[in-house]
Amino acid sequence: MLISLHDVSPLTLDDCRDAVAMLDEVGVTPAELSVFVIPYHEGRIAVDQHAPTLRFLRGLADRGATLVMHGLTHRMAGWAWTPRGFARGHIFARGQGELLRATAADTARCLEDGSQILRRAGLAQAARAFVPPAWLLSPAARQVVREAGFDFFETFAGIVKDDQLRARRVIGWGSLNAVEAFGTSVWARMQCARAPADTRLAVHPADMRRPGQRKAVRHAITRLLPRMHAQSYARYLCG
Ligand SMILES: [Zn+2]
Repeated sequence: MLISLHDVSPLTLDDCRDAVAMLDEVGVTPAELSVFVIPYHEGRIAVDQHAPTLRFLRGLADRGATLVMHGLTHRMAGWAWTPRGFARGHIFARGQGELLRATAADTARCLEDGSQILRRAGLAQAARAFVPPAWLLSPAARQVVREAGFDFFETFAGIVKDDQLRARRVIGWGSLNAVEAFGTSVWARMQCARAPADTRLAVHPADMRRPGQRKAVRHAITRLLPRMHAQSYARYLCG
C-alpha cells in the first residue's frame, strides 16, 4: 500500500500536519509515506519562501518520507472545451489539472521552475520524480515528462517507471461537497474490500476538513494495514 499525501504547500500546511498526525496515530510512519509538494501553489507562495512549510517538509524527509514534485502551481490555465477535456479538467480535476492542456514548452517551464524552487528550498530529492496535478497530462506534456529523466512519474492509471505501469489500483476521496464525499467513500470502501494488490492510497489535505471524510480515510487505512504493507514510493520502486 502506497500512501501519499497530496498538495503539500504553505496554503495547506495545517491540514497536512493534521493528516500526518492522523497517519501517525494509526501506525503509518513518515518513512512509509510519500509526500507530493506543490512548489508554487496557485502562484501565491513558493515553498522556499515559507519557513514553517520548509521545516515540515525537511522533518518528513529526515524521517524517510519520499518527497515528489507535484506540478508547479497546480492550477490549470484557461478552459478545456472538448467534451473529454471538460469532463477531465473541470469536473474530475476542477481546474486543477495544471498540465491537461499544457504544450511541450509550458511543461518544460513547469518542470524547470518547480525544480529550481525545490532545489532552493534544499529539497532537491523532490525534483527526482513527478506527479502531475490531478494525475492529468496532455499528450505533449506526457512526452516531456517521460523524457525528463525522472526516477518515476505517476498518472491515474499507475506509477510509470522504466516504461512499466505499476500499482494500478487507486483509492482516494473527493471532499468538495457532501455528495462527492459520500460517493467516493463508498467507492473507497469497495476498493478496500477487494483482494489485496499493489494499491495507491491518496490522501488530500481537503479530506481533513470534513470530519466524516477524515474518519473514512482513517477507517480505510486501519482496515488495510493488517492485510497490506505500507511503503513509500521510493522503497517500493527502488527497493
Ligand atoms: Zn494535487
